[in-house]
Amino acid sequence: MFTQYKTLAIFLGAENRGEADRLFIVFTKKFGKLKILGRAIRKIKSKLRAGTQLFSLSYIEFIQGRTYKTLIEAIPIKNLSFLRKDPEKLRIASDIADVLCFFLRGEEPDQKIWNLILEVFLTLNKTQTVSFYFVIYHYFLWNFFSCLGYKICLEQCALCEKNLNLDFGNIYFDPEQGGVICNSCARKLKSISKINPKTVNFLNFLLQKKLVDFPDFKITSQLKKEIEKITQAYLQYLKRLY
Ligand SMILES: [Zn+2]
Repeated sequence: MFTQYKTLAIFLGAENRGEADRLFIVFTKKFGKLKILGRAIRKIKSKLRAGTQLFSLSYIEFIQGRTYKTLIEAIPIKNLSFLRKDPEKLRIASDIADVLCFFLRGEEPDQKIWNLILEVFLTLNKTQTVSFYFVIYHYFLWNFFSCLGYKICLEQCALCEKNLNLDFGNIYFDPEQGGVICNSCARKLKSISKINPKTVNFLNFLLQKKLVDFPDFKITSQLKKEIEKITQAYLQYLKRLY
């Protein structure tokens, strides 16, 4: 007799296997990231199809076989269909899924990451404010980095730990030091870029607020570019560590 496991899961990706099977990548509440095989799931009659759509939040049951975990039940709990139907939302949700799949290697439950994925996907699915997509995506990334143990240092210089005066303006960012760098430390470091105090404020908001009470930010295109640049620099740096 195989043991049956039950948990909530979010479907992050899938690839076809054989004639009619699919191997799903899911993040589950109880077990973290898993790969689970849906046998004969590409057949029209499969009862598992509705609950295994990309980005579905579903209640699943599976059994552990010798090679694979096999899905035996998938009941959709929340229909996150806008993440699939809206091309821009689909792009962001897919980028988030890629980041999750890259950094989460083992089968390990993580309540904080579970809550973060839920919050981000539910908000992105629901929102009709296109300018908010940018906030949601960056909210995910920076909070996810914190969950991984790489919380960015924003209040003090990441090198000398001196408190930073954001009004003064001469501050820098270095992914390798894990945060913001003061003027005098910056002179000792190579190829380090200046950062706008408004970017630091924005990152602070991302780490302190919940999406539901995020202030109505007006982000200029120039600031957006800097936030994107810094986020990418930190993401690429962390990817090299993994
Ligand atoms: Zn310093």
